[in-house]
Amino acid sequence: NGAIAFKDVHFAYDPARPILKGISFEVPAGKTVAVVGPSGAGKSTLSRLLYRFYDVQSGTITIDDQDLRTVTQKSLRKVIGMVPQDTVLFNDTIAYNIRYGRPGASEAEVTGAAEIAQIGEFIRLLPEGFETKVGERGLKLSGGEKQRVAIARTVLKSPPVLILDEATSALDTTTEREIQAALDVVSKNRTTLVIAHRLSTVIGADEIIVLKSGVIAERGTHAELLAQN
Ligand code: ADP
Ligand code: ADP
Repeated sequence: NGAIAFKDVHFAYDPARPILKGISFEVPAGKTVAVVGPSGAGKSTLSRLLYRFYDVQSGTITIDDQDLRTVTQKSLRKVIGMVPQDTVLFNDTIAYNIRYGRPGASEAEVTGAAEIAQIGEFIRLLPEGFETKVGERGLKLSGGEKQRVAIARTVLKSPPVLILDEATSALDTTTEREIQAALDVVSKNRTTLVIAHRLSTVIGADEIIVLKSGVIAERGTHAELLAQN
């Protein structure tokens, strides 16, 4: 579940300056589509429309054939999880930061054995020594560790749809590779929209869309795009 369809989507912040000019593509349920392109192409705008920070001005975006305009922000947040570029964590424990946004999950629950077992395959997404540090306050985390916390926080809500908006862009190459591997695990079997700067970080996507000046300039698999260029 969680099939996404953009149909002839137009959007402008300023009516005199269109940003997205007729964007159509689909992300079939469980698949991953990546949007790449130069800075200013409209990639983030596209992800903000899917998260409904803004509404489309013409065209439609649907999730499982339901028009986003008929879905409340609140119910949308249950369906879509977002891992942003720069994660801002609360000056609190890792446990607090991970359970944030999941009403009903007490701190004890998060730090408890059952919760950690539930994290299961995601435990390795967490910063080194998570089991012992999870309840400590005021931890100094590196950029990569913060992204791991952000991924764990998002994934534990089990949303069928994920948006990864330049989730590794702010990291150094080595850390980027590690976080990329973690993201590959969590995006498996989830409908995923990846926003990325570089083609080399989205090799495994089922389809790659190259956005230029608000239109789709090229599309295909990584191999197809390489062959065309
Ligand atoms: P990308 O993610 O591809 O770099 P963006 O979607 O962030 O592109 O931006 C596309 C264009 O829209 C840019 O020219 C940017 O300056 C403009 N833009 C982005 N956000 C806003 C906003 N909130 N108000 C006005 N213009 C914006
Ligand atoms: P990104 O690199 O993530 O696409 P940008 O540098 O385009 O981000 O924009 C950073 C922030 O500033 C975003 O929240 C965007 O909405 C906002 N922004 C970008 N361009 C404009 C603009 N022309 N007017 C107002 N806000 C803007």
